[in-house]
Amino acid sequence: MNFENTLSFARLQDEADQLHHFRSQFLFPQHNGRDFIYLCGNSLGLQPKVAAEVVQGQLNNWANYAVEGWFDGDEPWMFYHKALKKLMAPIVGAFPSEVCPMNTLTVNLHLLMVSFYQPKGRRFKIIMEGGAFPSDQYAIESQVRFHGFDPKEAIIEVFPKEGEEILHTEDILAKINENANEIALVLFGGINYYTGQWYDMETITKAGHEIGAVVGWDLAHAAGNVPVKLHDWDVDFACWCSYKYQNSGPGGISGIFVHEKHFGNSELNRFAGWWGYQESKRFKMEKGFVPEAGADGWQVSCTQVMPMALYHASLQIFEQAGFIAPLREKSITLTAYLEFIVNEINKELGVAQYQIITPQFSKDRGAQLSIIAQRNGKQIFDGLVANYVLGDWREPDVIRLSAVPLYNSFEDVYLAGQALLKVSKAVLQS
Ligand SMILES: *Cc1c(COP(=O)(O)O)cnc(C)c1O
Repeated sequence: MNFENTLSFARLQDEADQLHHFRSQFLFPQHNGRDFIYLCGNSLGLQPKVAAEVVQGQLNNWANYAVEGWFDGDEPWMFYHKALKKLMAPIVGAFPSEVCPMNTLTVNLHLLMVSFYQPKGRRFKIIMEGGAFPSDQYAIESQVRFHGFDPKEAIIEVFPKEGEEILHTEDILAKINENANEIALVLFGGINYYTGQWYDMETITKAGHEIGAVVGWDLAHAAGNVPVKLHDWDVDFACWCSYKYQNSGPGGISGIFVHEKHFGNSELNRFAGWWGYQESKRFKMEKGFVPEAGADGWQVSCTQVMPMALYHASLQIFEQAGFIAPLREKSITLTAYLEFIVNEINKELGVAQYQIITPQFSKDRGAQLSIIAQRNGKQIFDGLVANYVLGDWREPDVIRLSAVPLYNSFEDVYLAGQALLKVSKAVLQS
């Protein structure tokens, strides 16, 4: 498409956009009574207007039924997660039995590693992307220590080549193959939080399996953003948070995926709790843990009804939008438009002030663009906020902007570009 850096062009795109109306279902943060242009859905998605009503419904159930709410009312809490499982499954390409909402992301990463990081003899290493989100680094370090290994020996990090920002699939594969007999687990983020790079999940999963390793993914920045097919790609396990691209609110509930091929494996370790016990016999309160079939068997504590209600509210919007495919189609164009606008600003400034480190092709990225500001980055970022544009800042010099297809418009992107140009001129040419 031939993009134009004009308001009229942006508005024409919005008129043609079948998803444009979903924007009105969300609450935008304000500053001095004016809406922000919100380009920060990679960090915390916006609140669906219906969220308050859905949570209020559960507060009413609590008020009206109290303890009987577990089995009474139109959505008994005992089975409430099942409604979510149906809606989560198409977002990550899974069967409902393979997913379950529970806990928070880093907690689930630990629980899944208890099951799927099983070092044996020489095969004790974990391979991950260098520069992974810190929580993942800490979780993995502490897991290898828990098994008695030194993280320096047991963790292989794959870093970009000298002078480059992103990883090449062939370099990841080479590293996997070089350590073929020593890797127990391949564990990457689906999309890197810093660069916005979407790894070739299918190819990496296959390569991990070919050397006899288990393969898991942290989909914090991928779930609800890009189409993934966890079941078909034969991924062993995955987990994600739902408060980024899935708009479930701060500290929102996490989701897990366990491939159905593992359901019959009674050898897997688990850190068990009563809520993972066979559902039909849970209240017999018997000795000896017997897991419920499927991903539900990884539950530990009882259903977190309020966080689930928030996630449920948001998932229903994804359902109305046709889940991922239509959103992705818009997202590809919207992000390409943002990229075009940033490059236009460089032209107008007459210097390459902004360098986009996120890969250029849509197959390698989701909604997020990570933009290095060559000079005065923090000052420019603060100027954007003062001009009603909210992205986020990552030290030392990266501005992350994400145009989210559910609630961002082409006009948002155009106006954010105008603000960036104005602030850049003021800061750089003063
Ligand atoms: C956002 C994010 C987290 C956050 O973990 P919580 O346990 O939800 O606080 C973890 N890992 C990655 C890769 C993330 O992007």
